[in-house]
Amino acid sequence: MEALRKFKDDSLVRKCKTVGAALESKGFKTILCPDGEAAAKAVLDLVSPEQTVGVPGSVTVRQLKLIDKLTEKGCKVYHHWDPNLAPEDRKERFINANTSDWFITGTNAVTMDGALVNIDGVGNRVSAMAWGPGKIIYIAGVNKICVDVPEAIARVKNEAAPPNTARVGGKTPCVELGKCIECHVPDRGCRITSIIEYAPMGRECYVVLIADSFGY
Ligand code: SF4
Repeated sequence: MEALRKFKDDSLVRKCKTVGAALESKGFKTILCPDGEAAAKAVLDLVSPEQTVGVPGSVTVRQLKLIDKLTEKGCKVYHHWDPNLAPEDRKERFINANTSDWFITGTNAVTMDGALVNIDGVGNRVSAMAWGPGKIIYIAGVNKICVDVPEAIARVKNEAAPPNTARVGGKTPCVELGKCIECHVPDRGCRITSIIEYAPMGRECYVVLIADSFGY
């Protein structure tokens, strides 16, 4: 909480503190950060140079430049947005990422009472968010905070899905309309919804909350 004294916006401080306390009560270790630089440092302080790290499709992790920073630190980082990854190696890459010493991911939404809400198409991300056998770090900008689960799901479908789908060239109505109409098209990315109500059992789970906006 000490770092929060540096925060300038009181409403963001209150939001982060409330969500942080809720997450702590549910078994997550929380780290509250004033900005992206502090968040990246917090992650780098947790991971040791020789460890393996898995990263799913996360804009937040990439905005924090964590793949480069962890690689520079000496970690082996597995991620499937690697432009050099051959299609036939994709499955093995998912397995390596999801079984690494650390799984470091963003989250589509976090509720005020401390639930992590995510919607996935392939399922690799939500599966490791719940089951990753190593240590897990979830990173959330303050823009991901929602009042409750219904608002979180609406946020994912109306705010996160359209730009995320457009980014990969998907052809869905939300890309055209900028909002969800519960489509039934082949490119639909909303296939698996995960609500993590408490920290997954038996593992160290950290949530890094940033008082700034990151990801979609
Ligand atoms: S259900 Fe379809 S229209 Fe709605 S957000 Fe998902 S992909 Fe877009």
